[in-house]
Amino acid sequence: LHAIAHTLSQGKRALVLTPEIALTPQLVRRFRGRFGEGIAVLHSGLSLGERYDEWRRIRRGEVDIVIGARSAIFAPLDNLGIIVVDEEHEASYKQSEGVTYNARDLALVRGKLEKATVVLGSATPLITTFHAAKEGRFHYLHLPERVQGRPMPETRILDIRKLKGVTFSPEMIASIAENIEKGGQTLLFLNRRGFATFLLCKDCGHVFRCPNCSVTLTHQRAKQRHFCHYCDYSLPAPSICPECNGTDIGLFGRGTERVEDEVRELFPDARVARMDSDTTTGRGGHARILKQLENGSIDILIGTQMIAKGHDYPGVTLVGIVSADATLNIPDFRSAERTFQLVSQVMGRAGRGDSPGKVIIQGISYDHYALLRAAAHDYEGFYDEEIAFREDAGYPPFSHLAMIVISGTAEKAVEKGAQDAARSLREERQNLKIRAEILGPAPAPLAKVRGRFRWQILLKARNRTELKRLLHTFQREWNPPRILRTVIDVDPVDTL
Ligand SMILES: [Zn+2]
Ligand SMILES: [Zn+2]
Repeated sequence: LHAIAHTLSQGKRALVLTPEIALTPQLVRRFRGRFGEGIAVLHSGLSLGERYDEWRRIRRGEVDIVIGARSAIFAPLDNLGIIVVDEEHEASYKQSEGVTYNARDLALVRGKLEKATVVLGSATPLITTFHAAKEGRFHYLHLPERVQGRPMPETRILDIRKLKGVTFSPEMIASIAENIEKGGQTLLFLNRRGFATFLLCKDCGHVFRCPNCSVTLTHQRAKQRHFCHYCDYSLPAPSICPECNGTDIGLFGRGTERVEDEVRELFPDARVARMDSDTTTGRGGHARILKQLENGSIDILIGTQMIAKGHDYPGVTLVGIVSADATLNIPDFRSAERTFQLVSQVMGRAGRGDSPGKVIIQGISYDHYALLRAAAHDYEGFYDEEIAFREDAGYPPFSHLAMIVISGTAEKAVEKGAQDAARSLREERQNLKIRAEILGPAPAPLAKVRGRFRWQILLKARNRTELKRLLHTFQREWNPPRILRTVIDVDPVDTL
């Protein structure tokens, strides 16, 4: 806010981007309270007419500050002095359908073109952002104090390898019971549904990963094998753990509904609610549950990502992460980074009121650095370990990635199309003498979306110009059957 005030005092204008979900009336009120009415707000909830009106006000120069979600990066503000990208690590800055762009990246481009300062803000910056700051390409400003100087919650990480067939460890159950007794509210956090299965040794916690790509393997029931979806490495269902010779190997994953049943059984007198995309469909579903939480008519709220973001819950004094493993083992090279962000966010939900609160994290991989560092509020420590992994495995910022997804309703045709595409990429790579890795084709982890089968090819190159040259040639030469759709995503924010 200081930086914005300073910009305005020099007669320049400001553009503030926030993730859609954080663009709340409170935020807008805070800006109006400080800067008056010369503010335009752009978000997807506006009708076309409202949006047009806001754009006209901006174009006529009646507005000094524009606040908006990702598309606001295109707002026709002139004399721009500063662009603020709040929560710069959010994947929602990327528009992946239609015309693809990443508003965070465009902010840097626009800032350069219009000689405006760009501020990327986050408590958990992207590894690539922090790397750029360390290399001196960005200037790094550290804000050490938690908002209003409140103490961070007490955090415990529990080893749940020995839990068989139940979701909650005795310590978690005791903490919830104690919290209810004290009149506090509890948030139980779960990963999104349906996509949390991976292969695991239940004796030692060993998670099966691709030896080439370090991402978790995904199970394909029809083929009875576990696949790497980057390079197509696969493994038949193993019977012995290579780490401990244990034989209790199985798929891991659990949905929100079952957890809700268990909670109701354990705490029959508690008022339990669930918030996920099923219970919040329709306008106001989300707000209604939050209202109930706020006025104290919910004791335990179970939810997905949704509850981790943006909102303040003053009555919440205990936050439980039911399984940190679900995020830690998403088959994506950024799974550790996502976990660190998520755990940090969830921790921020506890003790925002008067009491500091408590956080309990359950995990089979209870000793993973993403969890330990998040629990210790140690971003830089996390960065040091994660950047070593990225360098070792050749992931960004040490390479540039592009994902090519081929999809269609006929499974065989998609598979063949993906193989043809990979072959032609490899030929072009050789002809153009380009240094790039071509991984796959392999079925995507989300192998079927809305009736369309999906296969993918991952390209990895140190040199961005060479990567673009290869993609360019591929696009020119690639002539697939018309029933197939080909999507090329440069710098994908996820690879699912
Ligand atoms: Zn084992
Ligand atoms: Zn692989």
